Amino acid sequence: DPRIAKIASSIRVIPDFPKPGIMFQDITTLLLDTEAFKDTIALFVDRYKDKGISVVAGVEARGFIFGPPIALAIGAKFVPMRKPKKLPGKVISEEYSLEYGTDTIEMHVGAVEPGERAIIIDDLIATGGTLAAAIRLLERVGVKIVECACVIELPELKGKEKLGETSLFVLVKSA
Ligand code: IMP
Repeated sequence: DPRIAKIASSIRVIPDFPKPGIMFQDITTLLLDTEAFKDTIALFVDRYKDKGISVVAGVEARGFIFGPPIALAIGAKFVPMRKPKKLPGKVISEEYSLEYGTDTIEMHVGAVEPGERAIIIDDLIATGGTLAAAIRLLERVGVKIVECACVIELPELKGKEKLGETSLFVLVKSA
């Protein structure tokens, strides 16, 4: 698909951000490219329309950029999966490990119903820890995860292996 190469080239790589040795994949330049942004959303919408998906779960923060336009186009609700202490209502939480320490994602109780079919979206999968936690959180409340979807995968970090049975769809693989 010729759209993929244009999307890939619209992503800026910033070396040594947020710390030395990290090659940060910056999707804000993709958002500036109206064609690339439109094509990114269209590729996900084509894949997920007509699949009985009622939930698009977006991971803070960049899953909040790509998730809502996909949700609107496929007729699903958008559910934010947030960092701790951001959501005002009663929450359900899931912890996951980082290189040093742990992090947590949270979702509002009542946002989803058992038996709903969801996709989980984020900009990028690195080690897969974040998406694995999002899967666990939604599965705890009886939601079926149809797939995880990301704009970018860093395949060297083998994040896909952390997702277990859940499949992963990505547009761009990056070193
Ligand atoms: P993981 O849990 O190791 O897979 O890390 C994925 C999370 O970290 C996602 O929420 C990403 O937004 C963020 N992340 C890690 N590396 C990058 C990057 O190079 N660019 C943008 N986001 C990143």
